[in-house]
Amino acid sequence: MPSDQPGAAPVRIPLREDLRGGTPYGAPQLDVPVRLNTNENSYDVPAEVVDAVVEAVRAEASGLNRYPDREFGALRADLAAYLGHGLTADQVWAGNGSNEVLQHLVQAFGGPGRTALGFTPAYSMHPIISRGMGTVWLDGRRGGTARGGFDLDPDLAAAQVREHRPDVVFLVSPNNPTGTSLSLDVVEAVYSECPGIVVVDEAYAEFARPGTPSALTLLPGRERLVVTRTMSKAFALAGARLGYLAADRELCDALRLVRLPYHLSSLTQAAASAALAHAGVLLSTVEAIKGQRDRIVTEVAALGLIPVPSDANFVLFGGLDDAAAVWRGLLDHGVLIRDVGIPHHLRVTAGTPAETTAFLEALAAVLDPAGTPKDVPKEQA
Ligand code: PMP
Repeated sequence: MPSDQPGAAPVRIPLREDLRGGTPYGAPQLDVPVRLNTNENSYDVPAEVVDAVVEAVRAEASGLNRYPDREFGALRADLAAYLGHGLTADQVWAGNGSNEVLQHLVQAFGGPGRTALGFTPAYSMHPIISRGMGTVWLDGRRGGTARGGFDLDPDLAAAQVREHRPDVVFLVSPNNPTGTSLSLDVVEAVYSECPGIVVVDEAYAEFARPGTPSALTLLPGRERLVVTRTMSKAFALAGARLGYLAADRELCDALRLVRLPYHLSSLTQAAASAALAHAGVLLSTVEAIKGQRDRIVTEVAALGLIPVPSDANFVLFGGLDDAAAVWRGLLDHGVLIRDVGIPHHLRVTAGTPAETTAFLEALAAVLDPAGTPKDVPKEQA
């Protein structure tokens, strides 16, 4: 690790002072049979969507000598139509994954001399993107007592926004890594106190339980509110890299000042539009995944652990004496999940039924190598 501390190896490259000693995003990418650590969709892209994507990409191939449509108009219209809520193409923006869209937002509305506030634990890239753009990161407190203490209390959130007057606020619903959805009164309370933009990261929105509202409903009349989404999760297209947002048209327009020219390749645009034309088929795995998520919640509780109720395609569970040892033990059984750095907790993605079974069997074996029958009273679980 670069450091200019006495005794440490001298820094040989003129890296920015504020990046020295930093840690890059680094979820392990390991070749193991059961990969449940990055909240991907475990189901392959269905054959009819593969055909449509290949056809769309083929149609673009001979035109690759030209730059793509810089404003990606057709794709924006398709994304707006998918989102509904009366949104139009000029109220939508997209990038190579929602990470890039988030970066565009921080480039345009954060930056040197500005601040970004998020409520830990939340998506680890929000501080990394903010700091990477020279934005001061402010770690907010959640304060709720429900759902494992991971609820975000609207009054406490609003008070912190009032105190810090941040240029960017990040909310995540359903939240990663906890799976917890936000009620819209949190978004409204934060927005009304915030002089800057309020970003609601809804990467997992499609997995929310019935009745969970989207912040898309709050967009009319709130020109500093942004809702980000992705095709990496429910749409099973993490490899295609397509994330997007909905916001006021002036805000979307401003993002053109910071994006690189032609940032979305014509292949990406074509593939994403083809996939959106088959949204129904692609999203048909969502209910099955939600079923596995709920199964994980029930089964880890039966093992005496403490799951956090989830609106996403993953479950955070606590009650582990030594989370790192359990993570390692699962890996030894060929099951990769995520240690998100919350003491005594681990996070597992809900995948196929077979993957859930492999995870649960491995977990039971790791927790109780001798195979002693468990007798956990229901109220403790
Ligand atoms: N937001 C959240 C909350 C996420 O968990 C992730 C991915 N893990 C992203 C955004 C970024 O996803 P992508 O860049 O693939 O759209």
